[in-house]
Amino acid sequence: MVFRMETSIEGVAAGPGGPATPAGTRAPAEPTATAVATATATATAGDEGAETPVPVPAAKAPSSLSPSRAGDFMQCPLLYRFRVIDRLPQKPSEAATRGTLVHAVLERLFDAPAAERTPPRAKALVPGQWDRLRETRPEVEELFADDPEGERLARWLSEAERLVERWFTLEDPSRLEPAERELFVETELESGLRLRGIIDRVDVAPTGEVRIVDYKTGKAPRPEYSEGALFQMKFYALVVWRLKKVVPRRLQLVYLGSGDVLTYDPVVADLERVERKLLALWEAIRLATETGQWRPRPTKLCGWCDHQAHCPEFGGTPPPYPLPVTVAGLDTTRP
Ligand code: SF4
Repeated sequence: MVFRMETSIEGVAAGPGGPATPAGTRAPAEPTATAVATATATATAGDEGAETPVPVPAAKAPSSLSPSRAGDFMQCPLLYRFRVIDRLPQKPSEAATRGTLVHAVLERLFDAPAAERTPPRAKALVPGQWDRLRETRPEVEELFADDPEGERLARWLSEAERLVERWFTLEDPSRLEPAERELFVETELESGLRLRGIIDRVDVAPTGEVRIVDYKTGKAPRPEYSEGALFQMKFYALVVWRLKKVVPRRLQLVYLGSGDVLTYDPVVADLERVERKLLALWEAIRLATETGQWRPRPTKLCGWCDHQAHCPEFGGTPPPYPLPVTVAGLDTTRP
């Protein structure tokens, strides 16, 4: 099927949570654990070592899910807690930052007329988008703080250029007119659960068929793991279906790291299944939020976890739980 993009999908628009993200950045599609109250914790005060209650920000239970945060909970409930409830800081990584940079370049390239969307033009966008990323997210400067000669930065930038160049072997941007780029989407299910996320690209064919495209700067998973990779895409398809009452014709993952394209054509039963799965996941998250029971689930992915120092599996102690906890049916928050 050829998708020539000439129309836009009105209505699949930014929700009240905010539309456009600054170029070069990807807004947090995560549910926000907004500080709404204070809780009491003990802390050492003064030289005497007296324990004095001090207010610490408390968070309310999150009311929305993004594909990333749903994936966190499925990977490890404690990781979800650290990211969403405790909001522990995470260090920027070279790989994730390069992903953000490459996404920004691919998005901006579509500002140019179709005939000018060439590999040299795309590669030429890399330095400017890197500068822009440093302005909007100054913490990424840390990545190369120990590289005064700029050699590692130069290698990192040329790897970003290689990924951008590889895209042209997988898609031809001169023949595409995306209906949307970096599209924030949000919808609320009947249960009250809000689903939100950012779709890299939405294409709409003249026939009205919708294609959802996501760029990955890593390598394609082995076939036995492709279902996990498609979960995010089905999540987006569910949101678009709920918003537009149209089942996207195709979901497309473009893996720039390995030069692969993974596609899937969903049907209503797929999206209903994903919705049931998300509701079950949400119930599990609500239960964990109420009881404070966030189980660590160690896997080989722990090697990439920023929070080992707080994880019991690695001898760490989680920070005090900032939410009221219900124990065995007794709500301890009520007098
Ligand atoms: S180190 Fe592993 S088990 Fe511990 S929080 Fe991180 S992902 Fe979970």
